[in-house]
Amino acid sequence: MKSSCVRFRKVFEMLDRYAWLDEDYERLEKQALTRQIRSVDAVLGDRGAWIRVEGKTLLNLSSNNYLGLAHDARLKAAAMEAIELWGTGATASRLVTGSCALYTELEQRLAAWKEREAALVFASGYQANAGVISALVGRGDAVFSDRLNHASIVDGIVQSRAEHYRYRHNDPEHLAYLLEKHKGARRKLIVTDTVFSMDGDTALLPDLVGLRARYGALLMVDEAHAGGVLGERGEGLCHALGLHREIDVIMGTFSKAFGAYGGYICADHSVVRYLATKSRPLIYSTALPPAVIASVLTALTIVMKDAERRKSLQAKAKWLRERLASYGFSVGEGDTPIIPLIIGDNEKTLRYSRKLEEMGIAAVAIRPPTVPAGTSRIRLTVMATHTWAELEWAADQLQSIRADLEGGIG
Ligand code: PMP
Repeated sequence: MKSSCVRFRKVFEMLDRYAWLDEDYERLEKQALTRQIRSVDAVLGDRGAWIRVEGKTLLNLSSNNYLGLAHDARLKAAAMEAIELWGTGATASRLVTGSCALYTELEQRLAAWKEREAALVFASGYQANAGVISALVGRGDAVFSDRLNHASIVDGIVQSRAEHYRYRHNDPEHLAYLLEKHKGARRKLIVTDTVFSMDGDTALLPDLVGLRARYGALLMVDEAHAGGVLGERGEGLCHALGLHREIDVIMGTFSKAFGAYGGYICADHSVVRYLATKSRPLIYSTALPPAVIASVLTALTIVMKDAERRKSLQAKAKWLRERLASYGFSVGEGDTPIIPLIIGDNEKTLRYSRKLEEMGIAAVAIRPPTVPAGTSRIRLTVMATHTWAELEWAADQLQSIRADLEGGIG
């Protein structure tokens, strides 16, 4: 009797233990805010344009593989060669024995590409943002961050324990107001995405550079979606505007146009040396596998040299954006391969995404907290390796369900 009571109590405790999670999950479900991890069964071909998800073949308009390099034979060959030479794992942090010679080569080439004194590679873009911000500022300091900056920037600020002031999106006047108001802070850091990840618009860098000088602030920019895409040799927005020497930390990632993985920063030697000693993600996480670094080295060569690929990407993105705008879609204000179709309502956005999937298009719904409440959207991304015919077909599909969207898809 006693043992069955104990067993009953244990079962009850088990059931009850996660009740609050289930309640919260159900609340999110009602607001169409839960997320599912879907298994991609196959990538078809080497362009990265088509994927198979749960038995359905879909045109992928939801990747960050802007230059279509993730399945490029040259990157694959470089990775395989590196596995033969270096093995599959880095075996330790970069500060122990994990920093193989490929890292040295990559950091030298990155610094030269960006025309800065030095570079530092991190295990991901997320870690680069979080690791740099939390090392450069702390209690008593102030960080001024665009309201639409990426979550990894926000997390870095929270980890740093500095005061966090969010300025209105792309509003230098609001930023100036906040800088003036908090000019007594010990150190001031302004931080912005250069291409905003969910809107595809670009930061007003000349204004930010002016405010950096006026207030003696540090300026850090996140070129995650600009690397490989903007600039004559794919350097990013800073180079495209000729401002790369007036920015303290230029951050980027290899997970998007480079078709691989890993994050990096380019800066003055003093900054890089300091971060190598102080940045916690760099110190306490294992280095990237050598094969990843090898594929990034090959991607960097292609990014720098293959201007045609970049031009093709830009032309296709411009065409799709204009075509969708002409159909009456609200496509935002950007001029990059990220094209948001702003819908607003969470539920409606989900239904639109599902409908597109039925029609053969992977176009994922982006909802809060990734974007502000009331601005849920379908985020389309163009790749250089999409064919014109594929994009025309996708535009037709989108147009054909627009009427349903206006009336609310049933
Ligand atoms: N910054 C921005 C603007 C991003 O969009 C992302 C990725 N979504 C990151 C940083 C993080 O990069 P990674 O995926 O390499 O961690």
